[in-house]
Amino acid sequence: MSGNLNRRQLLKLLGMSALGSSVSSCITSPAAAAKVNWGYIGKQGPEYWGKLSPDFQLCYTGKRQTPIDLQLASVKSADKNQDLLAINYQPSPLNLINNGKTIQVNYQTGSFIECVGVARHRHRQIFQLLQFHFHHPSEHHINGELYDMELHFVHRDQTGNLAVIGVFLKAGAFNPNLQSIWDAMPEKQGEENIVADTIINAAQLLPTEHRFLTYSGSLTTPPCSENVSWYVMEQPIEVSRQQIDKFVHLFPHNNRPIQPLNERIVLESANTI
Ligand SMILES: [Zn+2]
Repeated sequence: MSGNLNRRQLLKLLGMSALGSSVSSCITSPAAAAKVNWGYIGKQGPEYWGKLSPDFQLCYTGKRQTPIDLQLASVKSADKNQDLLAINYQPSPLNLINNGKTIQVNYQTGSFIECVGVARHRHRQIFQLLQFHFHHPSEHHINGELYDMELHFVHRDQTGNLAVIGVFLKAGAFNPNLQSIWDAMPEKQGEENIVADTIINAAQLLPTEHRFLTYSGSLTTPPCSENVSWYVMEQPIEVSRQQIDKFVHLFPHNNRPIQPLNERIVLESANTI
């Protein structure tokens, strides 16, 4: 299907060069959000986010918030009506920042995912990969259980809609693809590290099996904006305990608590295009 449009045409269609890396300070980038000090503990913690600023109200009043507990038994298995997802990640020079909330890797223009809504007359939506970042422990749960960490690949389409792919990290084998990022991890808040001669590929941080759970959610950080399309991979990737510890040393706890599912439906799919 993607053969109908070649890569150059797709990029042109998206106005990729204009998008650039303007969203560089995480998905919490609106100016108002940047001014208010929020965090994960005490009076700046998640239970107070909704009251820290009028711009953060959705953190408290929103009915479609993220993260959620993904109960596999009650997930609706998708058939012919399910969205299709294609991941087109290209290599990028390493550019990472410690923004005080997480380690964020800003990604070079040209990588994107393509979602096709089969139920919506094959409506095609293309989201550019802007950045990825990490949480400890995981934000989503699977059947009530946490994973050691969670990786969020943040994408945006031409009109500003967001789509996030979540990948769980679990303690196990040493992960060399993660290590090239970890070796350049800035330890001080606000510190940026651009390592042009280190080339990374986000595709190498995805699990081999692309079975995912999809639902409509929000940013997991203030201002908790909704209508974010979530695609959470069921299969985790492995990283060593030592690699987890290096992140925990800087960010002991940067996950938002579980939010109510409310009226939402979670779908499962293994489809790619
Ligand atoms: Zn995140």
